[in-house]
Order: sequence, then structure tokens, then C-alpha cells
Amino acid sequence: MTEREKELEEYKDTRLKYFGLFKSLIESENECQLDKWGIQERTLPEWLMYATEEFGELSEAISEYIYRDGMPRAIIEEAIQVVTLCLKIADMIMENANMEKPEGYTKTHFPIGKLKAWLREEARKYFFLTDINIFIEVLDKIAEIEKEG
Ligand SMILES: [Mg+2]
Repeated sequence: MTEREKELEEYKDTRLKYFGLFKSLIESENECQLDKWGIQERTLPEWLMYATEEFGELSEAISEYIYRDGMPRAIIEEAIQVVTLCLKIADMIMENANMEKPEGYTKTHFPIGKLKAWLREEARKYFFLTDINIFIEVLDKIAEIEKEG
């Protein structure tokens, strides 16, 4: 395939066919980032800056693939790094946003494992938690789990 053909090649949405695989790659990338940087505490603009830096590396990997026979694997690796950082932002907002907590909610007694299992199921449907309805559903689910004990 020529450079120009690669440049013009169209990719049809595969509807997250490999999400199961990517989920484990995201978890591994999270562990790698924690090993490398520890648990960081940064401002939202700083987190966004790190994610944007990874977007730049994703662009570079795509450019390398098209113009310099770069490996497609590098595109996947950089995309996973972008996704991991973006999900961390969503995760921190989930944890820290000033949302009304259901009655009886306490951080220390909350069965977070149950919520995580439920979130994992929901994430398959939503992938990115950008829809505000998911936050409302999370709050409803927290209340439901609290009732069950
Ligand atoms: Mg990178």
C-alpha cells in the first residue's frame, strides 16, 4: 500500500468489538502509570494536559504508521494511554464532584466492590461515562446497595 493509499484509507466503526481486550489493557496501563508515577494529585487542567500530551503521541503514532512504516501496534498503545488518562479524569470527578449523596452514605462503610461490579456491567453499555444519566443511575444504585447492606 502506498503512503497516499494509507492516508486515504477509511476505517468503519467496529462498535468496540475488542472492548473486552481493551478493558484489560486499560487496567494494565493504569498499573504501569501507577508504578511509574505513584498516586498523583494534580489539578484538572494538569490532568487534561497529560491526556492531551498522550493525544499528541497518538497523532505521532498515526503519522509514523502512514508515512514511515510505523507499527499499528503503537497506535493501539497510545490510544490506550489516552483512554486511561481520560477515564482517570472521569473517575476522579465521580469520586470528588459535589453530588448529593444518598441518605446513609458513608465512604468507609460503602460496599465499593458491589458498585464497581455494577459499574463494569454499565461501562459495557456506555464505555465513556459522559452521559449525565449514568451519574444519576449510579446514585440510585448506591442507594439500592445501601438498602441491601
Ligand atoms: Mg504515550
